Amino acid sequence: MGLFKFTYRFYYLYRCIMETDKQLKLLHISDHHLLGNKQDKFAGIVPEDYFIQILQDAQKASREHEFAGIICSGDIVHDLEHNEAQLAQAYQIFTQHVQAYFPETPLYLCPGNHDHLELFKQLTFSQPFALVADKQVLPVVLNNYWHLLLVDSKKPERVGGSITSEQTQFIQNYLSQHPQVNVALVMHHNPLLANCAWLDSHRFRGIEEFWHAVAPWKNLRAIFHGHIHQDFMATYEQVQVLSVPATSVQFKPQEQVFTLDPIAPGYRIITLEPTGFTHQLKRLEQSLSYTKIKGY
Ligand SMILES: [Zn+2]
Repeated sequence: MGLFKFTYRFYYLYRCIMETDKQLKLLHISDHHLLGNKQDKFAGIVPEDYFIQILQDAQKASREHEFAGIICSGDIVHDLEHNEAQLAQAYQIFTQHVQAYFPETPLYLCPGNHDHLELFKQLTFSQPFALVADKQVLPVVLNNYWHLLLVDSKKPERVGGSITSEQTQFIQNYLSQHPQVNVALVMHHNPLLANCAWLDSHRFRGIEEFWHAVAPWKNLRAIFHGHIHQDFMATYEQVQVLSVPATSVQFKPQEQVFTLDPIAPGYRIITLEPTGFTHQLKRLEQSLSYTKIKGY
């Protein structure tokens, strides 16, 4: 009996490892724009309300799709009044909610243009986590088939992103040293034009050099990003580039000037397989109604 139990447990553990190795699911959320003061609104909505609804919805989805990790691609907070105490409060709201809804799921984070870098770097969570900052690239080994590279694309005091020659070099070296694994990058800024003139007017410094250096590496399979607050999908060579809608306000696709979209906030479920990946976009059911703002 004892031996049977032992053997069964060993088999069960082995099976779990093998299953995780074959298929692995990630939850991608982005652009929460949380405010420290609960009464404050951003374009007439309370970002925390929608962040909670997204986490609730994703938690329900996690019964069917067990998430091996959550990728958060930046703009955790929204700086309404340049008030550091309120921003610290907003980060605390983020930490509390992700810990409450996903207490054991590892978190992978990169900063966005709205993040306060010093406060972002001080984030800690009860679950395992990894965050990148200071213009670094941070590798995360998910399993034998997939690695993530977290990239800090934030350029201080700028809305547009930047990727330094050192970061591009690091990514290129990593791709050349891991030819057998699929690599996905996670960054805040969009590495391809969003086809929204007002968003595309913010230059992404170093992006031409980046594409020139990394696109030839066939093991670079995907880039998951935020920043543009809309669902976007495109390919560059073999690289699938996917954004996720914000958990807060939405920007209307294909617009020349800043335009909010009443479509509901959402998130993405990414299923990584040994030879590729599939993904599924989920949105809340109710649409948003805004007060008029000229920009963000
Ligand atoms: Zn944002």
